[in-house]
Amino acid sequence: MPELPEVEIVKSDLAGYFAKFPVIERIELRRKDLREPFPVKKLKALHGANVTKVLRRAKYILIETDRGTLISHLGMTGSWRPVDLGNERIHDHVYLHLGQALGSPRGLQLRLGYCDPRRFGILDVAGRDWAKNTRLSKLGPEPLDPDLDVELLWRNIRRRQGAIKAILMNQEILVGVGNIYASEALFRAGLRPTRKASGIKLNEFLLLLRQTVGLLLEAIAKGGSTISDFVHGAGEGQFQDSHSVYDRAGMDCRVCGHQIKSKTVAGRSTFWCPSCQH
Ligand SMILES: [Zn+2]
Repeated sequence: MPELPEVEIVKSDLAGYFAKFPVIERIELRRKDLREPFPVKKLKALHGANVTKVLRRAKYILIETDRGTLISHLGMTGSWRPVDLGNERIHDHVYLHLGQALGSPRGLQLRLGYCDPRRFGILDVAGRDWAKNTRLSKLGPEPLDPDLDVELLWRNIRRRQGAIKAILMNQEILVGVGNIYASEALFRAGLRPTRKASGIKLNEFLLLLRQTVGLLLEAIAKGGSTISDFVHGAGEGQFQDSHSVYDRAGMDCRVCGHQIKSKTVAGRSTFWCPSCQH
């Protein structure tokens, strides 16, 4: 499943395409729905719109136009790619037909295809003030935001009931940290995932956040495939053997040699080293 780094990479790819082809000439829907029915009328209203900016908020890609904002969530298996004639795929559910800005030499077009075999993705339209959209309005701060108020976040976390791992993955507290990144960041910070969030000290939390941000940036720099099974451009998934603890129950810790333990925490499989993490 694409996590924050992979979505960030897809966003950058899309920003590059829209910089050259900023006009959404037509949105071609090849079925009625993904996870939810397509908002057909709202999508049609974007025909002819000019894309002004491409952003990411949590795992949502926001394509701002002069008429509203196209929202794309990749779900489990979604991907965007330019599709030449003859390169269509069976799970291409949407085509964006893009054109160049008015005044450019006519004729050049780009067809962007959204492929999603499992169809857990979302394609929706919000107003230009997308932050008020119900999908986005309750989201917590971004871990990669340079203005993130770490002490405020720590105080929020200390007020919560529950294990630190579950709190770290709660999108209303902090966005973009999924199961794999949470497990790996806790390992790097030496914190047990089952620790009560209310007992985490400020210096422990600072280290945890630093490790989380480090992992996310590392993954973005390496193209997103270092730690999850996601490969962009809709290729086949390929798990890279780079996890320290995630999915390694019963195996030896790469640092100390103790057996990695596993347990379900807040409904998610959770892994840790009993010797390295306290
Ligand atoms: Zn260990």
